[in-house]
Amino acid sequence: MVLLTSEHRLLLKSNYAQHEVYAELLGALGAFMEEKVLPLSQKFDDGSAKMDSTRARLLEQGFCQIGYPKEYGGLGLPFGVYVLAAELAGYADAGMALSVAIHNTAAEGIFQFGSEDQKRKYVSDIISGKKVASFSLTEPTSGSDAKTMATKAKKTPRGYMINGSKAFITNAGEADVYFVFAATEKGPSSFIVESPNPGMSFGEDLPKLGMRGSRTSEVRFVDCEVPADALVGEEGQGFEYAKRMLSGSRIVMGSLCVGVARAAYDKALSYSKQRRAFGSPISDFQLTKEKIADMKTGITAGRLLCMHAARAREGSVEYSSEAAQAKVFATEMAVRVCDMAIQVFGGHGYTTEDVHRHWRDARLLTIGEGTSEVLRLLIASRELARSA
Ligand SMILES: Cc1cc2nc3c(=O)[nH]c(=O)nc-3n(C[C@H](O)[C@H](O)[C@H](O)COP(=O)(O)OP(=O)(O)OC[C@H]3O[C@@H](n4cnc5c(N)ncnc54)[C@H](O)[C@@H]3O)c2cc1C
Repeated sequence: MVLLTSEHRLLLKSNYAQHEVYAELLGALGAFMEEKVLPLSQKFDDGSAKMDSTRARLLEQGFCQIGYPKEYGGLGLPFGVYVLAAELAGYADAGMALSVAIHNTAAEGIFQFGSEDQKRKYVSDIISGKKVASFSLTEPTSGSDAKTMATKAKKTPRGYMINGSKAFITNAGEADVYFVFAATEKGPSSFIVESPNPGMSFGEDLPKLGMRGSRTSEVRFVDCEVPADALVGEEGQGFEYAKRMLSGSRIVMGSLCVGVARAAYDKALSYSKQRRAFGSPISDFQLTKEKIADMKTGITAGRLLCMHAARAREGSVEYSSEAAQAKVFATEMAVRVCDMAIQVFGGHGYTTEDVHRHWRDARLLTIGEGTSEVLRLLIASRELARSA
């Protein structure tokens, strides 16, 4: 069930005075996802349904509006509420959750670092789903080492001219607004590029192991002209903005993975009670019980770590280590849990798309938005600095 569980309600209660209001909102979002997103999830995975119109409806439900102030079209609720919404979305359909989460990261960048005019022009339209957005950082020759970007933005009398390309971009070709990082003379900078633009084109939708409902492709810039007011914040600060945007987004990706793990766990739990071997349900065997216990414990721990990081972010403390811890733990946990779910299903797990797709979906997120290796380096360097 996508609907909010008693565990979510308890977590809300232990963190927020307004927990009943937040639970009501999340319950309604969960009900929408259960009715409109979950039944299509297998079809998004096998390509027999496109998610665009369902994504638009999810955005209309206020999914991305949760954390923004009312004056920019938001609901003015805490970040932790959005993080729990991401878990529900990850349960309903991971590809959809990835698409809307990255869409929201672009809105977050404009909200945090954009001018008042940019905020007024874009934030409300993006978070309400009137415009689809994309976050374009990775390049064919630099992912973890994103600061070494080859895409350049050269100053012109009218604004900037962008040349280069971005790789593996979620929502590429579907988005109306691209939050693009390109190097200027002062270093990495960030720009809002509106599509269509004659200087911008897109590659084919890449075939993927999982997250198949979401579109992933290259974004190419050839003499792509943008006005001077497309620059977000200050020239040379783009990489700092990217790091801050990714810190928040990593908590969301961790939570999305808690949802993916829970979807696989629920299926495995139910199957373990039905499938019989040696005269009993396989749930009677101690080694199955060990898997159930480990899956459930991992899911609970992942959710708590994501909420811990969300609370750190709400508290305006420096939270990049907490965010990275939440993402590393929750994404690796999800891969393990989905793997265990396949094991519980035996041969049916290996051959049933609706079981193994959860593992395929989860597998992305120990890579995207900071690999586990790079995030472990980040955690260690933050903790070493804190203890200095
Ligand atoms: C489906 C999908 C969607 C994506 N969506 C987006 C998007 O919307 N926007 C966007 O900008 N990007 C997106 N990405 C890109 C993603 O963020 C990158 O793939 C990721 O950051 C890793 O970069 P890379 O693929 O270049 O790997 P590399 O950086 O080349 O890493 C390769 C390997 O080397 C390891 N490695 C690298 N540096 C170190 C180090 N210092 N120490 C130890 N190990 C190291 C890595 O951990 C990894 O195992 C997406 C990717 C995919 C697959």
